[in-house]
Amino acid sequence: MFVPPIVLLALGLTFISQPGAFAPQHELVIQAIDERKAADKPAATLALASYHQTRLATEQGGSDFVVVNKQRPLKPIDYQPVNLREIKSSKSLDNSRGLQLSNQAATALEELAEDMKAAGAGKLFVNSAFRSFDYQQELFKSKTRQYGVAGALVRSAKAGHSEHQTGLAVDVSVPEQGCAIMQCFGDTTGGKWLAQNSWKHGFIIRYEKDTTSTTGYTYEPWHLRYVGVQLATLYSKTGMKTLEDFWGFSAAEFYLEETASSTSN
Ligand SMILES: [Zn+2]
Repeated sequence: MFVPPIVLLALGLTFISQPGAFAPQHELVIQAIDERKAADKPAATLALASYHQTRLATEQGGSDFVVVNKQRPLKPIDYQPVNLREIKSSKSLDNSRGLQLSNQAATALEELAEDMKAAGAGKLFVNSAFRSFDYQQELFKSKTRQYGVAGALVRSAKAGHSEHQTGLAVDVSVPEQGCAIMQCFGDTTGGKWLAQNSWKHGFIIRYEKDTTSTTGYTYEPWHLRYVGVQLATLYSKTGMKTLEDFWGFSAAEFYLEETASSTSN
C-alpha cells in the first residue's frame, strides 16, 4: 500500500501531539515507513518539520522535542527543568555521583540500564547528567582561564547552549569495558548495544560520526539524548543522524557570533 507523505505527516502529527493516545497511529507510522522503505521510496520524516505545533515544541525547554545547539540557545537562557530528580542506582546502574535528570528521562534511563544488563552488555555508569546554567558558565570560565577563549570553545559548550541544561541529556560509560567518555566507547559491547537499542527507551545518540558540520560536535557515543519513545523510534526507523536534519533546521557548526571548531558537550 502506498502512503503519500501527507498521510504520514498526519499520522506522525497525531501521535506526536497526543502523548498517551498514539499507540495505534504509531503502529501505522512504522508500517508506512517500512512500506516506503520496501518500495525504495525516500522517508517522509522531514514533512514533520512543517507542522506548526510540533515544531513549536522544539523551541520549548520543557518539551522532549526541544532542539538546543550552538545557534539555538535555551529560552530563557538560564532555563531549568521543574521535574528534576536523582537517577536511581541499582544492580544495573551506578549513579554514585548522585546526578539528576528530568523525571521521564531518569525513568527511561533506569529501564534502559536494566535491559542492557540483562542483555549482557554491561552495567551503566552515569558520568554527567543535568548541568545548570551556572554550572556550565563556571565550567566554560574555568576552561577559558586554562586554555583561552578559542581553547574553551572546543572543550565546553557555552551556558544556555548545552543539551545537559535541558535535563534530557546524559553521558554514560561502562567502566569495566574502558573507553569512558572516549570515542572508542562506540566500539565496546556497551557502546554498540546503546547505538542499536537505546531508541527503544526513547534515547538517541545525539552526536553521531561525521555529523560535526551539522551538530557542531564531534562524535560522542556516550552522550544520550532523551526525545521520547515515539520520536526516537521514528528517528531510528528512518535512519536519521541529527535532530537538525530530522526537523529541517539549519546546520549549527558554529556559534552565531563566533567561528570555532567543534566542542565537547
Ligand atoms: Zn554530554
